[in-house]
Amino acid sequence: MPKPYLQTQWSLSDLFSSQDGPDMQAAFSELEALTARFEARREQLSPDLSSADFMDIVHQLEKINNLASRVGGFAHLSFAADTQDQAALAFLARVRQLMAGLQNRTLFFSLWWKDLDSAAADRLMAQAGDYRYWLEEIRLSKPYTLTEPEEKIINIKDVTGFSAFSTLYDSITNRYTFKITVEGEEKELTRGELMVYARNHDPQVRAAAYQELYRVYGQDGPILGQVYQTMVTDWHSEQIDLRHFPSPIAARNLANDIPDGVVETLLEVCRRNAPVFQRFFRLKASRLGMERLRRYDIYAPLAQSMVTYDYGVAAEMVLDAFHQFAPQVADLARRVFDTDHLDSQVRKGKQGGAFCSTLTPELTPWVLVNYQGRPEDVATMAHELGHAIHSMLASHHSQFTQHASLPMAETASTFGEMMLVDRLLATETDAAVRRDLLFRQVDDAYATILRQAFFALFERQAHEMISQGATVDELSAAYLQNLREQFGDAVEVSDEFSWEWVSIPHIYHTPFYVYAYTFGQLLVLALYQQYQVEGESFKPRYLKILSAGGSDSPAHVLSAAGIDISSADFWQGGFDVITGLIEKLESLTD
Ligand SMILES: [Zn+2]
Repeated sequence: MPKPYLQTQWSLSDLFSSQDGPDMQAAFSELEALTARFEARREQLSPDLSSADFMDIVHQLEKINNLASRVGGFAHLSFAADTQDQAALAFLARVRQLMAGLQNRTLFFSLWWKDLDSAAADRLMAQAGDYRYWLEEIRLSKPYTLTEPEEKIINIKDVTGFSAFSTLYDSITNRYTFKITVEGEEKELTRGELMVYARNHDPQVRAAAYQELYRVYGQDGPILGQVYQTMVTDWHSEQIDLRHFPSPIAARNLANDIPDGVVETLLEVCRRNAPVFQRFFRLKASRLGMERLRRYDIYAPLAQSMVTYDYGVAAEMVLDAFHQFAPQVADLARRVFDTDHLDSQVRKGKQGGAFCSTLTPELTPWVLVNYQGRPEDVATMAHELGHAIHSMLASHHSQFTQHASLPMAETASTFGEMMLVDRLLATETDAAVRRDLLFRQVDDAYATILRQAFFALFERQAHEMISQGATVDELSAAYLQNLREQFGDAVEVSDEFSWEWVSIPHIYHTPFYVYAYTFGQLLVLALYQQYQVEGESFKPRYLKILSAGGSDSPAHVLSAAGIDISSADFWQGGFDVITGLIEKLESLTD
């Protein structure tokens, strides 16, 4: 009898019984012992090290990483499940300290490896099998690496610097509550609950939701802006002044192993194609019977009814969509449910939004969503399970090569969403719901492609401005300007949106992360088009891209699938698919 799908909290028992149980204490002791043994290998490191000894050392490091990832994962997931739990917060801080210590004690290996002459490195890499790309990647940052004592100081100071500010930002913003009056009733809501009203049928309710969102963020705007200035200045001091990267974004590009020129091309193609989505917003305005769309209205629904799906129904729909693509894919997704690794409840204090966390190759990933029954919640479930499927398909790789780098990391998730939409389009009989689904598909393409590209363009500008001493107000003004370029005259943007940037966690936690979404979604559109043309023969090629995980560079993994990411035409192809969708919508009569 299969388990019924219940909206519950996840179980972390596959990791540890609790944060202070005997198994956790044993893990701390074992980490200490493994690290001490690893440190003892230090004097063995030399250019004529045998391949067998070298691989033995690599495996020791992998063991430390694997266990540290379980401990760190437990701390992070406990905190995400309840961000107001003081004990979980204290444990997270303790684990961060421990991790920084471990990192420092094992650092000598990567420094030695980076420093090694090319002949010796090539000899050892040739025998390294699945670890080759990981080893190659470490050497990529060779020109930007400092001396060991300097690297240690950076690690130590990050705990109370960049990481502390990152946590402070979460602590401040996760306690926000929002008040909105709907049908005469005042409600007090979390951000996730409030933003449900951004997709409400009533234009006044949509406006009220955004105004309340930016009233609350705007009140703390100067403080949140100051946190951002501090983190950006830290980024600049480290990446530009100390490491000598040519630009702030170059540090992220290297971590993604995407050439600077490719990212430049990607962002420029997006900027050029802003009118594609402006055309969509004009169409949407006319379908909504409005003269011009307001920024409040861009996610407005067109269907006459608010469709909601029971959790169990949603789970079945997602698994069925995956099954239609390949039964193997659905089986992997089902494993996340069966192992109780899915936290789908809405609770106060629980981290908002959604994520998938892959800790080690042998553990099924954990997924967090805040499921509220809307069609986009079903899409989010498909998205995060897509991440989990990606990890599981790549679980034959090592701890170091399982994870796809950021820009490839969104491939399976967005493809999973598209499978779901296709299934819904094929089975939904209500014409209004079908049209709404198509609109929503372009809505989502907007949110994932253009919106994120313009965030990245803003980050690039903000990093530059902050290095020139810009104030928070000047950053807000620049942000408003960025929005006005993005929307042209197709959408009216009111002034409170100047605070939107302080409400985007990504630009705080992981500078320039956001272009990975743009990259991933445009890539998926191109892949999906190939799937439509080729049918069955496409599937093994696609699964091969996913199962490569992080075992090679994105450029190599994709060129093996016939894709050239340095070409502007390739990226333009993604926008052409969207233009096709918009034309289809324009031709639909009411
Ligand atoms: Zn994602």
